[in-house]
Amino acid sequence: MISKEAEIVWQNCLKVIRENITDQGYKTWFEPIIPYKLVDKKLIIQVPSQFFYEWLEDNYVKILRKALDFAIGQDGQLEYSIIIDRGNVKNNQPALSIDVQKNNQRRPDHNNQVASATIKNPFDLKGLNSTQQDSFLNGNYTFDNFVEGDCNRLARAASFAVAQKPSTTSFNPLMIYGGVGLGKTHLVQAIGNYISRNSVEQRFVLYVSSEKFTSQFINSIRENSLQDFMSFYMQVDVLILDDVQFLSGKEKTQETFFHIFNHLHQSGKQIVMTSDRPPRELAGMEDRLLSRFKWGLTADLQTPDLETRIAIIQNIVEEENAHIDDEVIEYLAHYIDTNVRELEGVVISLIANASLTRSKIDLDLAKNTVKNIVEETEKVVSMDTIIDAITDQYNVKVADLKGKTRLRDVVLPRQIAMYLAKEMTNLSLKAIGYHFGGRDHSTVIHAIQTINDLIDTDREIAKSVKELKMKFKK
Ligand code: ADP
Ligand code: MG
Repeated sequence: MISKEAEIVWQNCLKVIRENITDQGYKTWFEPIIPYKLVDKKLIIQVPSQFFYEWLEDNYVKILRKALDFAIGQDGQLEYSIIIDRGNVKNNQPALSIDVQKNNQRRPDHNNQVASATIKNPFDLKGLNSTQQDSFLNGNYTFDNFVEGDCNRLARAASFAVAQKPSTTSFNPLMIYGGVGLGKTHLVQAIGNYISRNSVEQRFVLYVSSEKFTSQFINSIRENSLQDFMSFYMQVDVLILDDVQFLSGKEKTQETFFHIFNHLHQSGKQIVMTSDRPPRELAGMEDRLLSRFKWGLTADLQTPDLETRIAIIQNIVEEENAHIDDEVIEYLAHYIDTNVRELEGVVISLIANASLTRSKIDLDLAKNTVKNIVEETEKVVSMDTIIDAITDQYNVKVADLKGKTRLRDVVLPRQIAMYLAKEMTNLSLKAIGYHFGGRDHSTVIHAIQTINDLIDTDREIAKSVKELKMKFKK
């Protein structure tokens, strides 16, 4: 229960605060505060997180003092109560109280909070102030042109649910993962577009790649504008962060994202993320961040099956206003089974080819186009080729390579094979382990490290690995 007195006193404080700081600062840092109680001359306010409290103390201490002087008097005091975050469970009772008396000078007031009229938008590289909120969405990515199939049903359904009711489903955060070119960006952009177009309330939707987020963060440190960076992200209603695997190993960026994540989540904002692998395989990611990712829903995108590939091609043909015979479509769908981006590339260049040469799209033209494109991209070696080469060179049996034996004559070739698989294929560590009798990824990592070390120290091995690689290049 919020006390009436506290409410009145806080409203008086807000009058002073509102006059002295920017609108955005007010919205971000003061609107989320809940006046909790008034005990004599001490006002207790609830703040969403420890970070929030520290931020207020670091940046707004003077203005808070002024507000208390006005609303209570010189001897007025302020106490923060932090709502401990417990995942999705909203906790209205203050779980922890920190007694911070406003008149002690425990924390220095680094910044004068009366900042420039608007906060610096981290997307404005030239430092121009843009007042308009750009979402960085590409309007071409919609649910309408996202072909549904078994490979993406759950991810699509969850995305659509979030798009219809951002932050009210239990899919918060929503994490979509899957390999390259399987439609992650398309799907999360579709969420953003849908919300921007259909929402009754005006919501600030923001799409940002993790790469861009990282460079903005680094810039903000360099330019001394971290406060603007944080304030900017904290106003977002729907934050779409693409390719979070990019944050791996970037501790400071992760920490900052962690605070933004907590703040948005606790303020009932929607978070959507993508990754090229499942969260548990995100090495170099802080545990506390990983555990946040599990609060909502994680859904994967798989390689589309033949029928879905056919439907995707038909979709492109229609969008391009072209015509391709069913026979040719089927050929293409059979042939290109890796990812949608590649499929799209082939179909579009086929259409372009035909229109340039004014020829009809027939099977021959299709075969030629596929050949040219696939040859270009197929520098990647297959697992079978590697295993063949290894059994040849070291005179071991395939069964031994995949088996359990720990004889050095087998272990070394096996480790070299794993090393080459990592270097020359697109397979994940897990998949490589799978090819070698279901060994787990830590065994594969160990093999790669061993061979890396040997290449540095053992000339024979360095030479033979080099020769093997040359073989594949032919
Ligand atoms: P990712 O982000 O997973 O690497 P993208 O979202 O960029 O992949 O998708 C690659 C291309 O394939 C995009 O042009 C996208 O529109 C298209 N695409 C992927 N999946 C589908 C689908 N199910 N239906 C229609 N187009 C798709
Ligand atoms: Mg992408």
